[in-house]
Amino acid sequence: MEFQAGKSRVVIKEGDIVREETEAIVNAANETLLGGGGVDGAIHRVGGPQILEECKKIGGCKTGNAVITSGGRLRARYVIHTVGPVFRGGGRGEPELLASCYRRSLEVASTQGIKSLAFPSISTGAYNYPIEKASRIAIKTVVDCLGNHPEIQEVRFVLFSSKDFAVYQDAVKELK
Ligand code: ADP
Repeated sequence: MEFQAGKSRVVIKEGDIVREETEAIVNAANETLLGGGGVDGAIHRVGGPQILEECKKIGGCKTGNAVITSGGRLRARYVIHTVGPVFRGGGRGEPELLASCYRRSLEVASTQGIKSLAFPSISTGAYNYPIEKASRIAIKTVVDCLGNHPEIQEVRFVLFSSKDFAVYQDAVKELK
């Protein structure tokens, strides 16, 4: 599924983000940047030790913020590491922090001159954010922010299961 957001293309697909050939892929990291499970584990496993070396030098990342490293042995040239909120009911700033992850990732990409990037579903794994809510925040924030970054040509959402893919497709239909 794909649609236009201003001058940019938004693609929603099912897949494994480590295989994406966008210039950057986004990692759902934790504040230490020292590696974890889920998508973070997959990115470090496939990308190799260079990414972790760069993460150690950066020294950490606050929830809602994003930092960039090289992509190591990944197809993508860069990894943008963002830290999603742990979901604790939704009344502790989680929606704003999750939106900030997508916004800051696009800002970091734009600063680096990156024209295509792929997002996983941030916070909806180990961090327990209900994907029905998170998907709507993800798509709305990216569509809104792309207005500020017309130089970004393509943003992909890469969902790891057919169920997650279906939820994101519903979210797009609802926002249109
Ligand atoms: P968080 O801690 O932010 O919740 P997780 O990595 O636990 O991060 O999960 C975030 C989402 O990433 C989940 O929907 C999970 O299914 C998905 N995921 C896990 N591995 C991959 C992968 N290789 N490619 C794309 N998405 C993935």
